[in-house]
Amino acid sequence: MYTLNDKIRNLQPYDPISGNYAIRLDANESYFPMSDEMMQQLQKAVSAVDYNRYPDPTAKNLRQAYAGVYDIDANLITCGNGSDELLGVLVGAFCTAGEKLLTFAPDFSMYRFYGEIYGVENVVYQKPESLEIDVNAVLSMIHADDKIRMVLFSNPCNPTSLGLDKADVEKLIRNAPNCLIVLDEAYMDFYGEDQSFLKRVNEFDNLIVLRTCSKALGMAAIRLGLAVANPTLTRAITAVKSPYNINSMTQNAGCAMLSNHALLKQRTNEIIASRDALYQAVKPMEGKILKTVFQPQTNFLFLDFADGKLAKAVFDGFLQHSIAIRYMGRYLRITAGSEQENKVVVNVLTELLADLEGDC
Ligand SMILES: *Cc1c(COP(=O)(O)O)cnc(C)c1O
Repeated sequence: MYTLNDKIRNLQPYDPISGNYAIRLDANESYFPMSDEMMQQLQKAVSAVDYNRYPDPTAKNLRQAYAGVYDIDANLITCGNGSDELLGVLVGAFCTAGEKLLTFAPDFSMYRFYGEIYGVENVVYQKPESLEIDVNAVLSMIHADDKIRMVLFSNPCNPTSLGLDKADVEKLIRNAPNCLIVLDEAYMDFYGEDQSFLKRVNEFDNLIVLRTCSKALGMAAIRLGLAVANPTLTRAITAVKSPYNINSMTQNAGCAMLSNHALLKQRTNEIIASRDALYQAVKPMEGKILKTVFQPQTNFLFLDFADGKLAKAVFDGFLQHSIAIRYMGRYLRITAGSEQENKVVVNVLTELLADLEGDC
């Protein structure tokens, strides 16, 4: 009789909130729909696909389109089927048996998941109450254990919404020369390109930067992530990924969408303004039940209720208003939405907090 092995026997398939909600602010997507002009470009791009042919395994045009937007060298890019695919490829291929992966908590939950699947032991740096990363503490852990060969974290961080300053990131990279630093910059567009290491990968032999088209660029549907690294690392990533990982529709659609450089930049700025407005409206609610609203460098807010039951009650209240947000223990995460969506969020949150505070 066939039995599943220990590491997969009790796994549950990834299940984001299912059901239909009037307002979706649970997945940090862009709230902008496709413009009419983009839709036309997209249709043309998809019609041009040679459907009987395999896609370009190097996704050359797509890499050049992305490189053009961020002013980097296309030869330092490897495309992935979402950065999620790249995370799996990197953990699976760059760590070997007996080596350890260092992740932070809280951080993006998929990092640890891939470690477990590939049999890589996971070491966790627990962030303090402030949720700010103490790089010296991280370095102490690395220096105390030479089996730690990869450090994987997001900056700015999902879910804390906080940014780590580039000087601290650089200190980590330079003082852990025996480790591969995988720096997930999924939300960097909202923090500031001057904080990014995208243009600096050639300075380091141990750095891979991950980016995605799913958040600021508003293309979560086409599944496109990118790894940016020096030529040696890029060659290795390209060699270990599956050859036809980016389908031709995504390659063509990505090129078309990325050609709207100015529009994408303008939308990013509008999302930042939406986030700031939402933060300004929610921050004054701190005090009684809502302990902390963290200063966001991403496109979402992170709320600390210091109590899982209260956070769950607020989350359930949002669902009852047909608003999906993310519930994470004592914390809630709310993606910044359109002006109208934010208005509803602020009204509902005000109401729910007043009700709960009345009960306390
Ligand atoms: C959303 C997210 C990703 C996933 O991006 P895809 O390219 O859509 O797979 C990666 N890292 C972090 C931290 C994210 O929040």
